Amino acid sequence: MAFSQLIGQERAKRMLSRLIASHRVGGTYLFFGPEGVGKRTTALLFAQALNCAGPDAAEGEPCGACPSCRKILHGNHPDIRYLFPLSRAGKGALDDLLHDARWGEHGPRFDRAASISIEGVRDLRHEIAHRPFVGRMRAVIVCRAERMTTEAANAFLKMLEEPPPATIYVLTTARPQALLATVRSRCQPIPFARLASESIEHALIDRFGIDQVVASASAGMANGSLGRALDLATGSLEEERQQALDLMQTAGTGLEEVPELVQKLARQSDRGEIQRMLELLLTIWRDVMVLKVRARAHLVNEDLGNELTAEGRDLSLDEIVQTIRAIDETLRAVEGNVNVGLALAYLVSRLSRGMGGAEVWARSPGPSAIM
Ligand SMILES: [Zn+2]
Repeated sequence: MAFSQLIGQERAKRMLSRLIASHRVGGTYLFFGPEGVGKRTTALLFAQALNCAGPDAAEGEPCGACPSCRKILHGNHPDIRYLFPLSRAGKGALDDLLHDARWGEHGPRFDRAASISIEGVRDLRHEIAHRPFVGRMRAVIVCRAERMTTEAANAFLKMLEEPPPATIYVLTTARPQALLATVRSRCQPIPFARLASESIEHALIDRFGIDQVVASASAGMANGSLGRALDLATGSLEEERQQALDLMQTAGTGLEEVPELVQKLARQSDRGEIQRMLELLLTIWRDVMVLKVRARAHLVNEDLGNELTAEGRDLSLDEIVQTIRAIDETLRAVEGNVNVGLALAYLVSRLSRGMGGAEVWARSPGPSAIM
């Protein structure tokens, strides 16, 4: 794999290739942008380019075939070190994360309560005090850097002040604003953008062997994230979809349970999980609409066909469209920085209004209160 094979991210590619070609690589980089758009893969490519023995390495293009490139490809290069958010799980969990962080894998999934601890940073500091084992340049990849505890972030800063030999740091995050400002200011920012849905569709078909119809529907719903599209296409979002259905059902029937459910969701899930849940809710309502107008389109939630037909039976098309709009507004609010609990409460009031729960709607704060 070479930089040229990376999907999208022209700007990041250009910035990194230029750095390598001008021999100005060093210090700490902040790869920021939505989840599932290639930040970790790009970090691995960057590390390859810095260590490659191939002919184009000096221009910033790794060969992908020399021993160093192959080690990085297979996830066993001794000078590539990850720093992950960890919960108190044992070594087995870490092995799983390392496996999933490899090239071409989906990417590690972290527990919602996991954080990057000061112990993790201290271990790292100890390990990298000496020169790289075999490579020209060691790369430390910090996944979900915003999950560093304050103590960890301060220890990390201290480490940056006494840089070990031949080492670069790549911090990846979808929420750069959640990083300690003092850490952020030490980094060179490299922006990552959402991917075009056609590129995602092609990648799903060509690289992951996913059926064209499923690939197209998943890419359309993935909001520019290949990782999300892969989750949608392979159905590994069952838990979040169930949450979305619970939210719908509660909004439609047991109004007194709404505050409790909203609180529970806001407490148990991080912002990213709420986002995914809302995106799934969008796919569900998109299907309700497709069924309502009897469009000849593929259903994302094909297995729920009967339930969703029933859901739309008593609603006008306009009410369904309003609901989709409300979910979309809430999603965008959650992507920003609003209070997740308030945003969900607003949404549920809108959902229940669509389903005849006018009473809750009358008591709700309305969009201007949260957005
Ligand atoms: Zn190489």
